[in-house]
Amino acid sequence: MNTISAADHSIEASASAKLDREDGPRSNAGGPVGSASRQQIRPAGSAQPPHRWTIWRRLVSAYLRDRSQFTGGKVPRVCPICDHRGVMISVGHPPRWDARCANCGSRERHRLLWLWITEGGGNRLAGKRILHFAPEKALRRALRDNREYESADLHQPHVTHQVDITRLPLADGTYDVVIANHVLEHVDDDRQAMQELFRVLRPGGTALLTVPVNPSRQETYEDPAITTPALRQAHFNAPDHRRFYGLDFADRLTSVGFQISTFRMSPAEDHRHCPGLHPRRRQRPVLQCRRSGQQT
Ligand SMILES: [Zn+2]
Repeated sequence: MNTISAADHSIEASASAKLDREDGPRSNAGGPVGSASRQQIRPAGSAQPPHRWTIWRRLVSAYLRDRSQFTGGKVPRVCPICDHRGVMISVGHPPRWDARCANCGSRERHRLLWLWITEGGGNRLAGKRILHFAPEKALRRALRDNREYESADLHQPHVTHQVDITRLPLADGTYDVVIANHVLEHVDDDRQAMQELFRVLRPGGTALLTVPVNPSRQETYEDPAITTPALRQAHFNAPDHRRFYGLDFADRLTSVGFQISTFRMSPAEDHRHCPGLHPRRRQRPVLQCRRSGQQT
């Protein structure tokens, strides 16, 4: 059984849906981004320069929302996406402290993905054709300068492809990289979506996927009879989730052909870039889902 270990994932609790809404509605297809500019992705730390007014506005808002997070002082962090050096703030209900960059708004999973992209000082996405589903603002701003960047979503306006992730009108083997953060748990038929992601990847390409996982369960919990927002909230921790993945999430991906590996940070890097003080957020990886074969 190709399970994810408990340490490989964290529960994204009820906060996930609310966090996602801050990025725009999650849907079963990627997001926007119209035409991208014609530059390559900038190096780490320069994707979005810190903006003093934005930082102060977010700090004041965070203080008014949950002042206890500032009790006893805050430890400065470094955002690898925008190079903000200072405190990070809470998000979610109940609040998860030190999760959101006060400048670019990125959360732990976005910073972790950015660290994967820029690991070793390079840029793994340079020259790659990218399809980004349900694009989050912080990542979209950081990635959209890549000339091969495309976005997709079922509902968001201004995306490159307004599509259903389970029925992509895209040719086989089109993309080098597909990104979908917290998308699959919103999709009725997630296995069909996984098959579509596999299909549109070129041989040798990689899908970077994250979902909320309950590490206390081996098997994914889902029930198609649970359809109301209230029941979904009660069963799946969010009103628009279709399931609560267990440690067998990787099995679903390998069943459609993916080869799975994980990327995580060292504890020191985690402290510096991706605090996530809540234990459930510690040491969560990016799931690298590779379609075997030689890249062309
Ligand atoms: Zn930032």
